[in-house]
Amino acid sequence: MSSQPILRFAPSPNGHLHLGHAYSALFTWRAAAEIGGVALLRIEDTDVTRCKPEFAQAIMEDLAWLGLSWPEPVLHQSSRFPIYAQKAAELAARDLLYPCFCSRSEIAAAATARDPDGAPLYPGTCRHLSEAEIAERLKRGDPVQYRLKSDRAIALAGPLYFRVAQPDVTAPVETRVAHPELWGDVVLQRKGTPTSYHLSVVIDDDAQGVTHVTRGRDMEAATDFHVLLQALLGLASPIYTFHELILDADGKKLSKSRESESLRALRAAGWSADDVRRHLGFA
Ligand code: GLU
Repeated sequence: MSSQPILRFAPSPNGHLHLGHAYSALFTWRAAAEIGGVALLRIEDTDVTRCKPEFAQAIMEDLAWLGLSWPEPVLHQSSRFPIYAQKAAELAARDLLYPCFCSRSEIAAAATARDPDGAPLYPGTCRHLSEAEIAERLKRGDPVQYRLKSDRAIALAGPLYFRVAQPDVTAPVETRVAHPELWGDVVLQRKGTPTSYHLSVVIDDDAQGVTHVTRGRDMEAATDFHVLLQALLGLASPIYTFHELILDADGKKLSKSRESESLRALRAAGWSADDVRRHLGFA
C-alpha cells in the first residue's frame, strides 16, 4: 500500500487570493515537501451564488505565479453535488437531520449563546415543528436548510478524538478530545444547496485520501465538528496542523473583499513572487 502523505490547499473562488492565502498555500506546499508528500489543489465552490469560475482561474494563475504546482485534474466541489446529497440522505435516513426555515435575523433574535466563531448559536427553534407544519412549509416552497440533530449525533458517535501535529506536520502527533457540542445543530445543507462547507470538506478529504490537513487557526474550532461528521459517515480523519494567520496593520484577518490586498494588486504594484515568499517568511 502506498503511504505517500497527501495534503491539500482548498480555497473558495469567491474573490482573489491575498497574502493570507499565499501563506496557507506556501505552508501546505512546504509541509508536503518536508514529509515527502504531495499537495493537491481543491476548489471549494459549493456556494454557487458567490463562487465564480473566473476566480478559480485566477487562483490557479496566482498559485502558479508563486511557483507552486499540483496534480491535475483539480477537484471542483461543484461537480460533486450528487455525492454530497447522497451522504446527507444517509444522515437523514438515520434521523439525524431536520429542516430549518429560520432566517439569519430570526436566529440572531432568538439565540442566547454563541458558537466558537462568535456567531449566534442556533436555539433549535425548528426542531419543534410538527410534521404537518413542516409539510405545509415545504409545500409552500419556503426556503429550507437542513441541520444536524447534534445531541443525537454526538450520543451515537460516542467519545471523539482527533490527531494534531503542532506547530508543523513534522511535530509528534498528539491526540485531542473533540468538542462538537460547542457548535450545536450545524447546517449541513444550505438553502438551495445539497451541501455545506462542513459536509463537503470531510467527504472530499476522505475521497482524496488526504492524510494531513494544514489550515489556519481560524479553522481550529470547526475541526471539532468535522471530527463528528467523519465519525458519523465512516470517513477517515486526517492529522491536523493549524498555522498562524496573516493579519493586516490593524490586527484583523485579511479579507477577500479588500481587493487592494490581493496578490494580483501586489503583483501590479511591482512585487515579485520572491518578495511575497520573503515577506511571509518562506524565502
Ligand atoms: N475552503 C475553506 C476556505 O477557503 C478552507 C478549507 C479548509 O481548510 O477546510 O476558507
